[in-house]
Amino acid sequence: MSGSKLVILGRQGSGKGTQAERVAGRLGLARIATGDIFREAARTGSPYGEQVQAYMREGDLVPDDVVVDVVRQRLAEPDAGEGFILDGFPRTVGQARALDELLDPEHLDLVIELEVPTEVALERLAGRRVCLDCGRTYGPESGPRCARCGGPLATRQDDTEAAIRRRLDLYATQTEPLVEYYLAQDRLASIDGTGDPDAVTSRVLRSIEGRFSRRS
Ligand code: AMP
Repeated sequence: MSGSKLVILGRQGSGKGTQAERVAGRLGLARIATGDIFREAARTGSPYGEQVQAYMREGDLVPDDVVVDVVRQRLAEPDAGEGFILDGFPRTVGQARALDELLDPEHLDLVIELEVPTEVALERLAGRRVCLDCGRTYGPESGPRCARCGGPLATRQDDTEAAIRRRLDLYATQTEPLVEYYLAQDRLASIDGTGDPDAVTSRVLRSIEGRFSRRS
């Protein structure tokens, strides 16, 4: 399953960042998280960093052409050629169509949708903290520093109540239609994202294995 081309979908607080990182580690894939790329651009003051920061702060979506351009460049890097899992992209049907075009004549192997009820997502978001240096996400029980790189942990700038509400609304109106889009392509696996994170990882890995064994 190395060389897989995967997408993980899920509303904010579904645990998709955590699961994407684990799947990437287990299968040797590049994890490509557009939110991480944008936060890094904002932090380092890259040319488009200031522009995207305004959208992120409000919980709004960065325009499709900007996002697609970033993903096009990232997919051209050598590690992505060995397989990838996209986390946080696509988020609109326009982005999904652009991704299909970028990959043509190849295509995605599987789109994993992590399903969690709104109350669970909100509860997880309330305690969420991220490493300011590497972007790794932690729950409320974490210490003050990142276990991976030692960087300081803080609440995300866009984890305010208003921005969270805005992002959940946008997920429902802009991103949920992707479920239909990928169902029509027969590429969707909907996975229960509640409960113990290790159990969720096992379910995700099983669905990926199932996809590949179905084909061989
Ligand atoms: P995330 O870390 O995935 O929650 O993304 C943080 C923020 O980055 C989002 O609230 C958006 O402002 C922006 N962003 C990330 N990925 C995308 C995308 N695919 N399309 C539009 N905006 C995005």
